[in-house]
Amino acid sequence: MDIFTHALAPVLIARNTLGRRRPFSGKEFILIGIFGALPDILNPHLSLSARMHSWSHGLPCWAGITLLLLMVSRIPKIQVSLRVAAFMSFAYLLHMACDSISGGIDWLYPAGSFVWGDYWVDPTLWVPLDILLILIAYLQFRLLPMRRKLAAAKRKTAESNGTPLDRHQD
Ligand SMILES: [Zn+2]
Repeated sequence: MDIFTHALAPVLIARNTLGRRRPFSGKEFILIGIFGALPDILNPHLSLSARMHSWSHGLPCWAGITLLLLMVSRIPKIQVSLRVAAFMSFAYLLHMACDSISGGIDWLYPAGSFVWGDYWVDPTLWVPLDILLILIAYLQFRLLPMRRKLAAAKRKTAESNGTPLDRHQD
């Protein structure tokens, strides 16, 4: 899958799961998105065989990064909560899972070898998937909040004018 899907999928999952009860901040969403794309940023590759030999696409690297995140979340000055650190780690792991269903990865590389996966998600679907997730993100992060703000402003204006808002007028 492409980098847009890798970055947006964990952000949308965060927004629609844990984020429903206690919203994440914009900075936290950006961190989660970056960690969703991180395996490809750390070790960019084009071919499937290069991905199979990518040190950033294995559980050893993920475990190291997760350990680092847990340590960083303990430093109050950095202000990354354990909840966000855990989601950043999940975003990294999700990237590997997504690559697994779109070609496969060597899960134990470079410490060992356990190749698992296939092209269950065909490469022709990757760009449509990017577009779909971009549209969902636009809807959830921009369009719907804007509509809610607009509706609240209309209500406030109607209340200050002392006239009830006619639903048929908007
Ligand atoms: Zn990748």
